[in-house]
Amino acid sequence: ARYDIAALKSRLGGIKTEDNPALVRQKSRDFYWYSPTLKRQLDHVTADIIVSPMSEAQVVETLAACHALGIPVTPRGTGTGNYGQAMPLSGGVLLDLSGFNAVKDVALGRVVTEPGAVIAQIDRQTRPQSRQEMRLHPSTYSTASIGGFIAGGSGGVGSIRWGGLRDAGNVIRLKVVTMEASPRVLELSGDDLHKVSHAYGTNGIITEVEMPLAPAYDWVDVIVSFDTLREATEYANAVGEADGLLLKQLAVVDAPVPHDYFLRHQKYLPRDKPVAMAMVAAHAVSSLMGMTKRFRSAEVLFRSDRMSEADLKGLPPVFELGWNHTTLRALRVDPSITYLQVLYPFPNQVELVERIHARFGDEVPAHLEFVRFDGKVTCFGLPLVRFTTEERLEEIMAIHEEMGAPIFNPHRYTLEEGGMKQTDEIQLAFKREADPDGLLNPGKMIAWEDPTYDYRSGKTFLFRGLSEHA
Ligand code: FAD
Repeated sequence: ARYDIAALKSRLGGIKTEDNPALVRQKSRDFYWYSPTLKRQLDHVTADIIVSPMSEAQVVETLAACHALGIPVTPRGTGTGNYGQAMPLSGGVLLDLSGFNAVKDVALGRVVTEPGAVIAQIDRQTRPQSRQEMRLHPSTYSTASIGGFIAGGSGGVGSIRWGGLRDAGNVIRLKVVTMEASPRVLELSGDDLHKVSHAYGTNGIITEVEMPLAPAYDWVDVIVSFDTLREATEYANAVGEADGLLLKQLAVVDAPVPHDYFLRHQKYLPRDKPVAMAMVAAHAVSSLMGMTKRFRSAEVLFRSDRMSEADLKGLPPVFELGWNHTTLRALRVDPSITYLQVLYPFPNQVELVERIHARFGDEVPAHLEFVRFDGKVTCFGLPLVRFTTEERLEEIMAIHEEMGAPIFNPHRYTLEEGGMKQTDEIQLAFKREADPDGLLNPGKMIAWEDPTYDYRSGKTFLFRGLSEHA
């Protein structure tokens, strides 16, 4: 055995553990299988034991014991990440935080919760208590934990109004436990939040979060079709830039994706039409309809405020047609599909989208998510890819970059390769302080594992623990 799990269990007498191999394996995965590359690399990965602390004191106790025994610890919220973030590449402990999930305090403009709270569950408390809701949530609203969102997500529903999760003001305060002989509990706020935001739990365990809240409006789902992708993109861009229009979500998906893959909405969606999909406040729908009339080929296909409860029954909300739910719905119909993550930089996003998708045609159907990015409306892409080979996938990404659209590679499990392809010095420095033995989520931060790694080499980083297995 790699680690002394028996000794760990006897030290953690009062904390819930599980070492049934089938259950451990099940909890050792996330949605990594979206990527054929990650599926190949990570399929065998499993922890040795699940430890499920229910309080900060139990997190501290677990980390102290694992530190003493040299056992690696990989935190997990609810395991909905897409890049194998929560997969324990070196085995050891899978730290399941899903049961540590109370909503502790709701106030005007903010909420304090434990890390395992599912985001929809937070809103279920803040709405009736204070008519407020989370500003931002991933499309996995109903399943993702808030701690996992901060440590592993980037933004989503709400980003058209509030920007990304790491933008100033979108997280207020975090409590973080360090991985040391005597774990410390630190409070981070302001710029210090960058130490652990989107660090995949490689440098501390989040045990409390304070998040900003926004007014909870009644949101109406609207779907509008167009003759061309260009027109749908221009429409969404104009709607996104309309400062007075209260929106929570705004996306464009090219034909034939909506008709072919949004099965429960299929009867509303003609096969040859690209669509724009929005969540708009009920009192702003008439303004949105006014704007829509100005677009020649626009046709309103769907308005949730015009439908009976019976018709709406069984239909997912439009945000569950967007973000990585678009990919999920496509994958359910055609398992060979995968996806990319693309930035179309402001101010050329509309032209760039048209040029790139004209080049690839139906091999890479467009999916755009409109966001406010440093005060400017632009779009990210999560285009689908009709996958053939890993070589072709690499080629498609290279062409995007050549054409001026940077890729955030969703086929890599490391922070650096999935992000900006450079070391995050703040996160690295914090890891030296908070996890000096490198026991938290090993293999995910290249700068820690291999300080000499050359990002220009064009090679894929292969974590030692994984290459030994291969
Ligand atoms: P997990 O997958 O459990 O963990 C994510 C990362 O955080 C891991 O590295 C884990 O080790 C770490 N972690 C978890 N909890 C803690 C903690 N308490 N302390 C320290 N580290 C921790 N993401 C988006 O950003 N926007 C989207 O719109 C979006 N849409 C999605 C749609 C689908 C269909 C799917 C499958 C995924 C989507 N995702 C999206 C990715 C993912 O669902 C979200 O990022 C989600 O918030 C992750 O939460 P989780 O609890 O599942 O985290």
